[in-house]
Amino acid sequence: MHPLRARQRLFKLMPLLAQTLALILVLMLPSWLVAAELANEVVPVSPAQGELQLGPHTQVLEDPQGQWTPTTLPQASGAWQPRSTPSLNFGFSRSVWWTRTTLRNTSSQRVERVLDVGSSLVDRADVFVLGPDGRERLHMASGDRRPFSTRGEQVRTIATRLSMPPGENLTVLMRIESQDGLHEIFTPTLWTNEAFAEHMQTETLCFGLYYGVLGTMLLYNAFLFISTRQSTFGFYVAYIASFLMWGLVFRGYAFQYWWPNSPDFNNQVLPVVVSLVYLSLGLFLMRYLDTRHSVSPRLHRIVATCTAANGIGILPAFLGLYAMAFVLNTLIGLCLVASLIATGQVLGSQGSRPARYFAGAFTLLAVAALVYYLRVLGVVPANTLTDNSVQIGSAAEALILAFGLADQMNTLKTEKLRAERQALAAQTALTTRLESLVSSRTQELEAANQRLANLSVTDELTGAHNRRQFNKDLAAAVALHSRHHTPLALCLLDVDHFKLYNDRYGHPAGDEVLQKIAQTLRQQLQRASDHVYRVGGEEFAVLLDINEPPEKVESFIGQMLAAVHALGIMHEGSPVGVVSISMGLVILKGLSATRSPAELYSQADTLLYQAKQAGRNQLVSQTLD
Ligand code: GH3
Ligand code: MG
Ligand code: MG
Repeated sequence: MHPLRARQRLFKLMPLLAQTLALILVLMLPSWLVAAELANEVVPVSPAQGELQLGPHTQVLEDPQGQWTPTTLPQASGAWQPRSTPSLNFGFSRSVWWTRTTLRNTSSQRVERVLDVGSSLVDRADVFVLGPDGRERLHMASGDRRPFSTRGEQVRTIATRLSMPPGENLTVLMRIESQDGLHEIFTPTLWTNEAFAEHMQTETLCFGLYYGVLGTMLLYNAFLFISTRQSTFGFYVAYIASFLMWGLVFRGYAFQYWWPNSPDFNNQVLPVVVSLVYLSLGLFLMRYLDTRHSVSPRLHRIVATCTAANGIGILPAFLGLYAMAFVLNTLIGLCLVASLIATGQVLGSQGSRPARYFAGAFTLLAVAALVYYLRVLGVVPANTLTDNSVQIGSAAEALILAFGLADQMNTLKTEKLRAERQALAAQTALTTRLESLVSSRTQELEAANQRLANLSVTDELTGAHNRRQFNKDLAAAVALHSRHHTPLALCLLDVDHFKLYNDRYGHPAGDEVLQKIAQTLRQQLQRASDHVYRVGGEEFAVLLDINEPPEKVESFIGQMLAAVHALGIMHEGSPVGVVSISMGLVILKGLSATRSPAELYSQADTLLYQAKQAGRNQLVSQTLD
C-alpha cells in the first residue's frame, strides 16, 4: 500500500482507536487496584506545603462486617494494605473500608489544615483524627447520605478543618461506607487554608465558565428550536440540559444549594439524570445522523433499542437501588456509545458530514475521559487541566456538535437553494421547449393555411389563378383605376377549335394542351403583379398592371399569341395545323372613364368574339376613352 494512503487510513481509524481505548478503560475502572510497596510511613507536614495528596501515603483495611471502631481496629501492619494512587477506589463491595494515614507536623508551630475527602458522592464518610496517645481529637460524620449540615466545611465536597500541634503525630482514619454496595472514587487531600480557598475559587471560576458555555449553547439552541421547530435542536437542548444537570448533581452543587436536607433524593436523582443524558444523546444523534435512513435498518434498531433501554435505568433509582442503577446505566450507556460509534464509522466511510462532526466530538470526549482515568491512575499529574478534563472535553464536544448542527442547517439551506435553482432551470427548459413547440406548430399551421389559401385561389389542372381570384383581382384593379387612375389591361383568350382537338386526340390530351398553354402564358409575364387566370373551360384571362403606351401592351400580348403558336402542338382539325388561340384585349388608360368589372369583361369578350369571327389565331384590341 502507498505510504500516504496507509497514513490516511490510520488517520481515519484514529477516532475509533481512541474511542475503543476509552471504552476499555471505562470497563476496567472498578477493578483498578494497584499494588505498591508496603509503607508504614509518617507523612511530614510543614507550613510551606500548600497541597498534599494523601492517597499514595494511605493504607486501607476491609471491614466486611462493619464491626470495628477507631479503638478496636486491628493495629498490625500486615492487616493494612498500602495504596499508591492519588485516588482511592473500592469498587463494588458491601464491606466498610478504613483508610489510615499518619501525619506529623515537623515544624515548631501549630499548623492549620483542611482535610478534603475529595468527593461529593461518598455515602457515609466518618473522619477520625487520633492523637499520639490514641485519643480521638476530631470526628466528622458526613457523606452524601447525611444532611449537608454535617460537613465541617460548607463546600461541595466533604471536608473538615484540622489543627496540628508542633512535633506531634496525628493518625487520620476514614471509615467509608456505601449504602448498597457501590463505593465512589475519592481523592483525599490535605490543604493549607489559603491553598484550599484558592483551589475552591479557581474551581468555582472554572465550573462557572464551563456551565456558562453549556448554558449558552442550551439557550442558543433552545431559541433555534423555538424558531425552526426542528426536533434535532430540541433533542440537543434536552441533551445539554441533562448533561448540565448531571454535572451539578455529580459535583455536589445541587445538594449544596438546592436540596441540602434531602440526601436520599440527591442519590436518586443522579442515576436518573445519567439515564436522561444517554436517552437524550441517543435521541439527538439518531435525528442528527438520521440513522433511520442513513444506516442499515438493523443498526438503526440497535441504536434505537439502546437509546430506549436507558429509560430502564431510571426504575431502580426510584426504588433506592443505587448500585443496581449504576450498573444498568453503565452497561446500557456503553452499549449505546458502542452502537453510536459503529454508526459513526459506517457514515464516516460514506463521507457523511454529520458523521465527521460526531466523530470529532466523540473523539475529544474519549481523549478527555482517557486523560481523566490516567489522572485517577496517577499516570499523569493531577492539576486543574487533568482534574477537569471530562468537563473540558464535554464542553468541546457540545460546541462541536452545535457547529455540526449549524453546518447541517447550512447544508439544508444550500440543498434547498440548489433544488430551487434546479426547479427553475427545469421550468425554464420546459417553457423554452413549449415555446419552440408552439412556434413550430404555428409555422406548420401557417404553411397549411398558406397551402389552403393557394388551393382556394388556384386552378387545379393548370396551376393558373381561378375564376374566383380573377373576379377579386379585376374588381381591385378597377377600383384602383377609379381612385388613382392607374392604367390597366384585360385580355381574354380562347383556344381555337378545341372541341375538335378533344374529339380527335382525346380529353386527356386536351388537358395537357391547357396545361402547356397556361405555362407558356405564365412564362411570358414579367411582373409579379401580372397574373394568368383560367376563367372557363378553355378560356384564360390576363390582367396587366401597365404603365407603358397601349401599342407596347398590344405587342406584348401579341408575343403571347405567337408563343402559343410557336409551341407547335399538332392540331389536324385547325386550318393552321397547330393549336392556336384568339385574344380580345381592352386597355384602360389612366384618364379613361372608369367601367364596371362586368362592362370591362364584356367588352373584352366582344373583342375576343371579333377575333374568332375574323378567322381566329389573332388579337383584337381596343383602348377605351
Ligand atoms: P372555337 O374555336 O369557336 O372556340 O371552337 P371550340 O371548339 O374551341 O369551342 P367550343 O366552345 O364549341 O368548345 C369548347 C370545348 O372545350 C368543349 C369542351 O369539350 C372543351 N373543354 C372545356 N373544358 C375542357 C377541359 O377542361 N379539358 C378538355 N380536354 N377539354 C375541355
Ligand atoms: Mg374555343
Ligand atoms: Mg370556348
